[in-house]
Amino acid sequence: MKLKKGDQVVVLSGKDAGKKGKLLKVFPKTQKVLVEGINIKKKHQRPTQKFGGGIIEKQAPMPAAKVQLICPRCSKAARVSRNDGRRFCKKCKEGIDKE
Ligand SMILES: [Zn+2]
Repeated sequence: MKLKKGDQVVVLSGKDAGKKGKLLKVFPKTQKVLVEGINIKKKHQRPTQKFGGGIIEKQAPMPAAKVQLICPRCSKAARVSRNDGRRFCKKCKEGIDKE
């Protein structure tokens, strides 16, 4: 998994294509990510005694392959290379993670 929590990513495909957001969570086992404000599913909730019912918005994880990292150095959607455990942007060759 080349993505980490806190990364800025852009969505490549689907209804949220082109949108940007922060990675809230990474699920390495399923290769999925949770992106802030992206892939929100609306769920209808039946009224209960405590809750009046209505529509609940819930964020759903999406495949990591559908997002691409935005390099914090050059601000472009970039591929990532790894070297000695550190991540580098393939566009500007700068390190992505802060020292
Ligand atoms: Zn870069």
